Amino acid sequence: MPSPAAPPLSIQGYHAHVYFSADTIAQARALCAAAAGRFALAMGRVHERPVGPHPDWSCQLAFGAALFGEIVPWLNAERAGLTVFVHPLTGDELADHRDHAIWLGRSRPLDLSAFLPPRPPSPPDARPLHITLRPVTRDNFEAITDLELLPHQEDYLASNSYSIAQASFNPHLQTRAVYADETLVGFMLYATPGETGVPGDYSIWRFMVDAQHQGGGIGRRALERLIAEILAQGGVRQIGISYVPDNTAARRFYASFGFVERGIDDSGEMVAVRACGGEAGG
Ligand code: ZN
Repeated sequence: MPSPAAPPLSIQGYHAHVYFSADTIAQARALCAAAAGRFALAMGRVHERPVGPHPDWSCQLAFGAALFGEIVPWLNAERAGLTVFVHPLTGDELADHRDHAIWLGRSRPLDLSAFLPPRPPSPPDARPLHITLRPVTRDNFEAITDLELLPHQEDYLASNSYSIAQASFNPHLQTRAVYADETLVGFMLYATPGETGVPGDYSIWRFMVDAQHQGGGIGRRALERLIAEILAQGGVRQIGISYVPDNTAARRFYASFGFVERGIDDSGEMVAVRACGGEAGG
């Protein structure tokens, strides 16, 4: 329990996770779709397995703190027996799920192990891995579709197989496999200016590092490589990226590369842009 002197929480938004089973999936799907149709919220994937800390199948609804008073009572009235787990986003995932939880319906035991303190960083004398970006080919695409996100990231990104399929129909999309030495560790998808028709306008559509390989600085070096690859194409005016507004880890990561937030797009994603006018070469 916090002491009476604990300061008020700084809440950036909320998640409502609708829990269901094989028997109630249709009901849960309809509830989430109705919520998404009615409120300005981002509906995540309908997971037909337990993901992250959630003990049941679930679907995430993410919304701004200002909508709490409309959405939570509505969910409680409409859930018709489904359990809904609501938690704030304060930047402390362990406390958000453990200490600030709000249950609509019967509470369920969460698996909080992923939020416990991170493993220690690799020893400083370890040889740095060599990060390269390579084409997606017949030989590596299956391994790419097997790469996995950390469970709590799965609501934020489309799957790699979806991304590869998307690129196969769109000549303006480029796929890249990320390698650390000779190990496949991640995947990227970006759009060249042909996609928007605006000269010099690039955007990164997907960027993921396999769960097993996160935390060692691979993502940072991979993004450096990707930005260098794009800049090498010459005439680059800007590089855009978008992410779920509540994804504070993504926000901090991209801000550290000079991406500046521009606002929420039609699909509810935050758009951030890195201006490259002065760097256009070749
Ligand atoms: Zn959540």
